[in-house]
Amino acid sequence: MSITLLRLGHRIFRDQRITTHCALTARAFGCEKMIYSGEKDSETEKSVIDVVNRWGGNFKIEYEKNWKNFLKNSKSKKILLTMYGVNLPNIIEKIRSEKDIVLIVGSEKVPADIYQMIDYQVAVTLQPHSEVAALAVFLDWYFSGKEMERKFENAKMEIIPMERGKNVKSF
Ligand code: SAM
Repeated sequence: MSITLLRLGHRIFRDQRITTHCALTARAFGCEKMIYSGEKDSETEKSVIDVVNRWGGNFKIEYEKNWKNFLKNSKSKKILLTMYGVNLPNIIEKIRSEKDIVLIVGSEKVPADIYQMIDYQVAVTLQPHSEVAALAVFLDWYFSGKEMERKFENAKMEIIPMERGKNVKSF
């Protein structure tokens, strides 16, 4: 089973922060990889790789200029997160039975031809909000909360949870 996030339409000037948050959310909530299209951005790639190096795991970030080819060649089920889709509680069980999935989120405007290339479109509420929120809630429902217990191998840093204050162990 593998989950890849496809982040569409990245613009260096406007989307750096949100695209980075998409990647970090994907990583923390159990995706293997984020592929992004739009403008290639080595700064965003570097900040995601820095987090992986410090906090562990094997999460990858890759640029794909031609996202249509990527989707055409992928054998995974393609799931577009969009407020126009089927509301999450009504479709999540069916999606859980799929083996490998590509989750797709947009930025400003999702290109219309994507609707012909996907297997499911899923809404996380039927209201407009954010790709980061949609991604986090989708993955939490997909994993039924189990992603909270995930361990990240080869971490150089680990948080010791506490009720007040902060404690970070370094290796
Ligand atoms: N107006 C844009 C459009 O026409 O696609 C939406 C932009 S929204 C800020 C960016 C992305 O957040 C969307 O492409 C979608 O992936 C995600 N998103 C926003 N609201 C959502 C919702 N209620 N359910 C699922 N995904 C959502």
